[in-house]
Amino acid sequence: MNGKIVMDCIDAAYASIRQHADELMVLDQTIGDGDHVFNLTRGLEALRGIRGDIELLDFGPALKLAAAKVLSTVGGSSGPLFSSLLLGMSRACDDLNGDPRGYAQMYAAGVKAVQDRGKTGKGSKTMMDVLIPVAERWNKLVQDAPGARQILAELPREANRGMLATRAMLATKGRASFLGERSVGHIDPGARSSELMITAVCERLGESYR
Ligand code: ADP
Ligand code: MG
Repeated sequence: MNGKIVMDCIDAAYASIRQHADELMVLDQTIGDGDHVFNLTRGLEALRGIRGDIELLDFGPALKLAAAKVLSTVGGSSGPLFSSLLLGMSRACDDLNGDPRGYAQMYAAGVKAVQDRGKTGKGSKTMMDVLIPVAERWNKLVQDAPGARQILAELPREANRGMLATRAMLATKGRASFLGERSVGHIDPGARSSELMITAVCERLGESYR
């Protein structure tokens, strides 16, 4: 794994966010302030702007550089949260050793960093309702040891389930919590964007296992 793969994943996430920009805009206009897709686009474009630097680095340092860039470019709640995901993963990279379980642990470390930063878990109608179930599912899948292809096919399904579950939830964190009961019945924008990016990354990585 190296910075080139990190950049491939960033490109895949960017393409998907651009493709779903209108939908994400409406979701955040409905239960937030409408800026979520701009925050994401700004961050992903900033990362594409330092492509040469990221591609030169090893996996861990590439993720660390990406985290710093996102933190310095993206405002809103989502900037520091996504930066924490990247930084948390970069810190866990040393333990990879080519063991498939290492990747699940690396992602889980990223999710834990987001959780520490945002101070919430599942059930408060945020991106955590996608990030955490995916970490749990991934952890379970590597215990049962299916191959990379099955894992990359299953994680987007889990992300989709998590995203859809936010519709019925009452928001208790972030801007949507100001709406109280009126937040119920709408999908959380951060949950949807997380699902989109996880799916895009899995599809891109899955191309290596065809
Ligand atoms: P802002 O809410 O500041 O306008 P964004 O619109 O970019 O920032 O991001 C909103 C998303 O951030 C929400 O849809 C939700 O998924 C996520 N979010 C907000 N607060 C938290 C939190 N404390 N923990 C995890 N995710 C959160
Ligand atoms: Mg917003």
